[in-house]
Amino acid sequence: MSKPIIATASLAGCFGCHMSILDIDDRILQLIELVEFNKSPIDDIKTFTKQCDIGIIEGGCCNSENVEVLKEFRKHCKILISLGECAIMGGLPAMRNGIPVKECLEEAYLNGPTVGLNAEKVMPNDAELPMILDKVYPLHEIVKIDYYLPGCPPRADLIWAAVVALVTGDELNIPYELVKFD
Ligand code: SF4
Repeated sequence: MSKPIIATASLAGCFGCHMSILDIDDRILQLIELVEFNKSPIDDIKTFTKQCDIGIIEGGCCNSENVEVLKEFRKHCKILISLGECAIMGGLPAMRNGIPVKECLEEAYLNGPTVGLNAEKVMPNDAELPMILDKVYPLHEIVKIDYYLPGCPPRADLIWAAVVALVTGDELNIPYELVKFD
Protein backbone atom coordinates (compact mmCIF):
# COMPACT_ATOMS: atom_id res chain seq x y z
CA MET A 1 0.00 0.00 0.00
CA SER A 2 1.38 3.46 -0.86
CA LYS A 3 2.21 5.76 2.01
CA PRO A 4 0.73 9.24 2.45
CA ILE A 5 3.08 11.86 1.01
CA ILE A 6 4.19 14.93 2.97
CA ALA A 7 5.85 18.13 1.73
CA THR A 8 7.15 21.00 3.87
CA ALA A 9 8.43 24.52 3.27
CA SER A 10 9.80 27.48 5.20
CA LEU A 11 8.69 30.91 3.95
CA ALA A 12 9.30 34.04 6.08
CA GLY A 13 10.28 32.05 9.17
CA CYS A 14 13.42 31.14 11.10
CA PHE A 15 13.38 27.36 10.53
CA GLY A 16 12.55 26.93 14.23
CA CYS A 17 9.30 25.18 13.32
CA HIS A 18 11.23 22.72 11.14
CA MET A 19 13.61 22.17 14.08
CA SER A 20 10.54 21.34 16.13
CA ILE A 21 9.52 18.73 13.53
CA LEU A 22 12.96 17.15 14.01
CA ASP A 23 12.46 17.35 17.79
CA ILE A 24 10.18 14.31 17.53
CA ASP A 25 13.56 12.59 18.04
CA ASP A 26 13.61 8.83 17.40
CA ARG A 27 9.94 8.93 16.33
CA ILE A 28 11.41 10.14 13.03
CA LEU A 29 12.02 6.42 12.33
CA GLN A 30 8.30 5.69 12.85
CA LEU A 31 7.46 8.72 10.69
CA ILE A 32 9.55 7.33 7.84
CA GLU A 33 7.57 4.07 8.14
CA LEU A 34 4.28 5.99 8.04
CA VAL A 35 4.87 8.56 5.29
CA GLU A 36 6.97 9.41 2.28
CA PHE A 37 8.53 12.89 2.04
CA ASN A 38 8.45 14.89 -1.18
CA LYS A 39 9.52 18.55 -1.62
CA SER A 40 11.02 19.59 1.73
CA PRO A 41 14.17 21.05 3.28
CA ILE A 42 14.24 17.85 5.37
CA ASP A 43 15.20 15.69 2.38
CA ASP A 44 16.39 18.57 0.17
CA ILE A 45 13.94 17.67 -2.64
CA LYS A 46 13.51 21.06 -4.25
CA THR A 47 10.61 20.53 -6.66
CA PHE A 48 7.37 18.58 -6.40
CA THR A 49 7.60 15.22 -8.15
CA LYS A 50 4.14 14.00 -7.02
CA GLN A 51 0.82 15.21 -5.73
CA CYS A 52 1.03 15.22 -1.92
CA ASP A 53 -1.44 14.43 0.85
CA ILE A 54 -0.18 16.91 3.43
CA GLY A 55 1.73 20.17 3.06
CA ILE A 56 3.21 21.73 6.18
CA ILE A 57 4.27 25.38 5.92
CA GLU A 58 6.30 27.45 8.34
CA GLY A 59 6.56 31.24 8.00
CA GLY A 60 4.31 33.90 6.53
CA CYS A 61 4.56 35.65 3.16
CA CYS A 62 6.88 38.65 3.02
CA ASN A 63 7.80 38.60 -0.67
CA SER A 64 6.59 37.48 -4.10
CA GLU A 65 8.54 34.22 -3.98
CA ASN A 66 6.82 33.22 -0.70
CA VAL A 67 3.44 33.75 -2.39
CA GLU A 68 4.50 31.68 -5.41
CA VAL A 69 5.72 28.78 -3.22
CA LEU A 70 2.58 28.90 -1.07
CA LYS A 71 0.29 28.76 -4.12
CA GLU A 72 2.35 25.87 -5.50
CA PHE A 73 1.86 24.00 -2.20
CA ARG A 74 -1.90 24.67 -2.29
CA LYS A 75 -1.99 23.23 -5.81
CA HIS A 76 0.03 20.11 -4.95
CA CYS A 77 -1.28 19.26 -1.45
CA LYS A 78 -4.73 17.96 -0.46
CA ILE A 79 -4.33 19.24 3.09
CA LEU A 80 -2.39 22.36 3.99
CA ILE A 81 -1.21 23.03 7.56
CA SER A 82 -0.13 26.44 8.84
CA LEU A 83 2.70 25.61 11.26
CA GLY A 84 3.61 28.15 13.93
CA GLU A 85 2.88 31.78 14.69
CA CYS A 86 4.69 33.23 11.64
CA ALA A 87 2.49 31.16 9.31
CA ILE A 88 -0.67 31.76 11.35
CA MET A 89 -0.36 35.49 11.98
CA GLY A 90 2.90 36.76 10.47
CA GLY A 91 4.88 36.34 13.72
CA LEU A 92 8.09 38.26 14.33
CA PRO A 93 8.63 39.33 10.68
CA ALA A 94 5.22 41.05 10.82
CA MET A 95 6.67 43.55 13.30
CA ARG A 96 7.46 45.57 10.18
CA ASN A 97 3.80 45.80 9.23
CA GLY A 98 3.29 49.14 10.96
CA ILE A 99 6.21 50.72 9.12
CA PRO A 100 6.15 51.77 5.44
CA VAL A 101 8.29 49.49 3.24
CA LYS A 102 10.39 52.46 2.04
CA GLU A 103 11.32 53.28 5.66
CA CYS A 104 12.19 49.62 6.39
CA LEU A 105 14.48 49.44 3.35
CA GLU A 106 16.15 52.76 4.18
CA GLU A 107 16.80 51.62 7.75
CA ALA A 108 18.22 48.28 6.53
CA TYR A 109 20.40 49.56 3.71
CA LEU A 110 21.02 53.29 4.19
CA ASN A 111 20.62 54.44 7.80
CA GLY A 112 20.77 51.43 10.17
CA PRO A 113 23.73 50.42 12.40
CA THR A 114 24.93 47.70 9.97
CA VAL A 115 25.05 50.01 6.95
CA GLY A 116 28.86 50.18 7.33
CA LEU A 117 28.91 46.80 5.59
CA ASN A 118 27.17 48.45 2.62
CA ALA A 119 29.69 51.27 2.15
CA GLU A 120 28.30 52.24 -1.25
CA LYS A 121 24.78 52.35 0.20
CA VAL A 122 23.30 50.21 -2.56
CA MET A 123 19.66 49.16 -2.36
CA PRO A 124 19.35 45.54 -3.58
CA ASN A 125 17.92 45.85 -7.08
CA ASP A 126 18.81 42.70 -8.98
CA ALA A 127 15.93 41.72 -11.28
CA GLU A 128 16.06 38.15 -9.92
CA LEU A 129 15.33 39.21 -6.34
CA PRO A 130 11.73 38.60 -5.25
CA MET A 131 9.65 41.74 -4.71
CA ILE A 132 9.06 42.63 -1.09
CA LEU A 133 5.34 42.83 -0.21
CA ASP A 134 3.70 45.86 1.39
CA LYS A 135 3.39 43.83 4.60
CA VAL A 136 3.89 40.30 5.91
CA TYR A 137 0.76 38.20 5.30
CA PRO A 138 -0.38 35.14 7.26
CA LEU A 139 -0.92 32.15 4.97
CA HIS A 140 -4.71 32.00 5.27
CA GLU A 141 -4.98 35.50 3.75
CA ILE A 142 -3.47 34.13 0.52
CA VAL A 143 -4.70 30.52 0.19
CA LYS A 144 -7.16 28.23 1.97
CA ILE A 145 -5.58 26.62 5.04
CA ASP A 146 -7.04 23.43 6.48
CA TYR A 147 -5.37 23.20 9.90
CA TYR A 148 -3.41 25.47 12.23
CA LEU A 149 -0.76 24.30 14.72
CA PRO A 150 0.10 27.22 17.02
CA GLY A 151 3.28 27.95 18.96
CA CYS A 152 6.66 29.58 18.37
CA PRO A 153 7.56 26.94 17.62
CA PRO A 154 4.71 24.44 18.08
CA ARG A 155 5.73 21.60 20.39
CA ALA A 156 7.17 18.52 18.67
CA ASP A 157 4.56 16.38 20.45
CA LEU A 158 1.78 18.52 18.98
CA ILE A 159 3.19 18.16 15.45
CA TRP A 160 3.57 14.42 15.97
CA ALA A 161 0.02 13.98 17.29
CA ALA A 162 -1.45 16.01 14.40
CA VAL A 163 0.52 14.27 11.64
CA VAL A 164 -0.18 10.78 13.01
CA ALA A 165 -3.90 11.52 13.31
CA LEU A 166 -4.03 12.85 9.75
CA VAL A 167 -2.16 9.96 8.17
CA THR A 168 -3.88 7.20 10.17
CA GLY A 169 -7.36 8.76 10.13
CA ASP A 170 -7.49 8.46 13.96
CA GLU A 171 -9.44 11.03 15.92
CA LEU A 172 -7.22 13.97 16.81
CA ASN A 173 -7.11 14.11 20.57
CA ILE A 174 -4.65 16.75 21.70
CA PRO A 175 -4.20 17.39 25.44
CA TYR A 176 -4.42 21.11 26.24
CA GLU A 177 -0.86 21.09 27.72
CA LEU A 178 0.56 20.29 24.27
CA VAL A 179 -0.79 23.49 22.75
CA LYS A 180 1.01 26.75 23.35
CA PHE A 181 0.47 30.15 21.83
CA ASP A 182 3.89 31.79 22.28
FE1 SF4 B 1 10.58 30.61 13.95
FE2 SF4 B 1 8.67 30.91 15.81
FE3 SF4 B 1 8.24 31.70 13.30
FE4 SF4 B 1 8.37 29.09 13.85
S1 SF4 B 1 6.82 30.51 14.59
S2 SF4 B 1 9.33 30.14 12.11
S3 SF4 B 1 9.93 29.10 15.48
S4 SF4 B 1 9.77 32.56 14.72
